[in-house]
Amino acid sequence: MPDSASRNEFTVQGIAASQGIAYGQIFLYLQNEVQVPDYQVEVEKRIDEVARFDRALVLTRQQVARTKSEVERNIGPEEAAIFDAHLMVLEDEALIGETIREFESTGRNIETCFHRVSTRYVQAFSEIDDEYLRERAGDLRDVTQRVLRNLLGQEESSLNKLADRRIVVAADITPSESASLDRSSALALVTDSGSKTSHAVIVARSMKVPAVVGVRDLTRRVRDGAWALIDGYDGVVIVNPSESTLFRYGKIQERKKSFEARLLDAVRLPAVTLDGVGITLLANIEKSDEVGKVREAHADGVGLYRTEFLFLNLGRAPTEEEQFEDYRRVVESLAPSPVVIRTLDLGGDKPIAGNASLFPHESNPFMGFRAIRWCLENREVFKDQLRAILRASAFGKVRMMYPMISGADEMARANAILEECRSELRARGVPFDPALEVGAMIEIPSAAYTTDLIARQSAFFSIGTNDLIQYTLAIDRGNDRIAHLYEPTHPAVLRTLRHIITEAHRHKVPVGVCGEMAGDPVFAPLLLGLGVDSLSMTPAWLPSVKYLVRSMSLADARALAEEAMGLSSPAEIYARCDAFYRARVRLD
Ligand code: PEP
Ligand code: MG
Repeated sequence: MPDSASRNEFTVQGIAASQGIAYGQIFLYLQNEVQVPDYQVEVEKRIDEVARFDRALVLTRQQVARTKSEVERNIGPEEAAIFDAHLMVLEDEALIGETIREFESTGRNIETCFHRVSTRYVQAFSEIDDEYLRERAGDLRDVTQRVLRNLLGQEESSLNKLADRRIVVAADITPSESASLDRSSALALVTDSGSKTSHAVIVARSMKVPAVVGVRDLTRRVRDGAWALIDGYDGVVIVNPSESTLFRYGKIQERKKSFEARLLDAVRLPAVTLDGVGITLLANIEKSDEVGKVREAHADGVGLYRTEFLFLNLGRAPTEEEQFEDYRRVVESLAPSPVVIRTLDLGGDKPIAGNASLFPHESNPFMGFRAIRWCLENREVFKDQLRAILRASAFGKVRMMYPMISGADEMARANAILEECRSELRARGVPFDPALEVGAMIEIPSAAYTTDLIARQSAFFSIGTNDLIQYTLAIDRGNDRIAHLYEPTHPAVLRTLRHIITEAHRHKVPVGVCGEMAGDPVFAPLLLGLGVDSLSMTPAWLPSVKYLVRSMSLADARALAEEAMGLSSPAEIYARCDAFYRARVRLD
């Protein structure tokens, strides 16, 4: 097996997830649970063992205090407060005393004793009825991992810790970890598992950070600090690249750069096709501080604000007030352009970490307790969000949509709760837009085939192709083993899209797409040809899609869609879309 220590160049093929080329040193992010060795400590070494425990606790306290002040400085005091809970754990007499007693009675090494005791505590906390105390289980787990790492002399693993610009190589990155990805220091992102639509990739794309996923066991084949070249166009990772490889890639990069300069020139121009049809291009965002990017990309507004990241970043449900301030910031600064706020899509692959009571473990999370299903059962959290959105609607043009709607009944239940919120605000005398448009995401096949029924209660639809494809094809969007079967051009996907669009238009409901397909210039013409009214994508991709829109006619796109509808193979349909794109967009 090639090894980076040998300095020989070796290449790994993965899935191209975010375009771009990067060259730099690897930051190996190993965030797995610490493996705890278990052994007997000789009697004469027992005093040293307790001293070792004390030293690890002191070191951990120093690390936590340092992280706390960094977070306070960079993010804010409220977010930093979580580390007070961590410091309390490190001073907890009961936890420390019990560990020492366990050690005295068993003589096993201190890591084992500490691990046993803390696991019992975590278990006990997660079973308590009080929500606040239950949440402390997550803090306890977090901080005990740090102590164990210090006892074992292992490096602290944190994405925030990236000191200089590095290529992050990880087994996988959870949505909350990707939220903490330092935007100024990640040169590229590479993960052993994952797919093009994982949230880490969506974040990487939004940061214009090249990404390659599905490289299987790369984390076991490279060492921290090794040099690598990442080709996010073709999904290739080259470790220890030779001079000639670097030269070859340098040339490619130059050509891509000059093409990107042309794209940026086009971004100020209107998104009008050669046959004179204006196309609405919107932006997807996950944080309120991304409004600058929306403006820079000259988007017509926000087509998808994924609000769950506010929750994930805080590690708890924000208050109505906190959410209102966040939404208002976005809405006000983009007014009069519309902002589509999507209600919470938590759960599934996006639980709030360490919160087992609100997000119990599920063996099949994508089919589980997520999004609107979760909100309908956590009414108070949902209502805080709905009131915050309604209140923000007084400050600009807000639209709101629910994720993962499965049918008309669910839509009616969500709308009934919204109505309650409207009444509450009226009673409080708080202003909101009475004409706020409410729509549904169509991303489950059952919703696709009841589009006509849901249309009666919807002002607009937004098709979430990321989920729609996974549910239509029964392909887990995050599973790299079957990533090659995740085919946006599968005839079943095309037929489902056509059905949704036809039914929506028959009921005079506009329909857009906000999944990753919308921001891919290879697929955008197909979607427009099928009849969608708008495309919403990560702002970084808007220039490419706009450039393409300005280089094609809608009549040609319609012909492409008609032809594609008559084909039976996903590969053949993809080839037609790719040819359409290449005929209009030349790299040099
Ligand atoms: C989608 O499913 O296409 C979508 C836009 O939502 P998310 O990726 O947040 O699930
Ligand atoms: Mg979705």
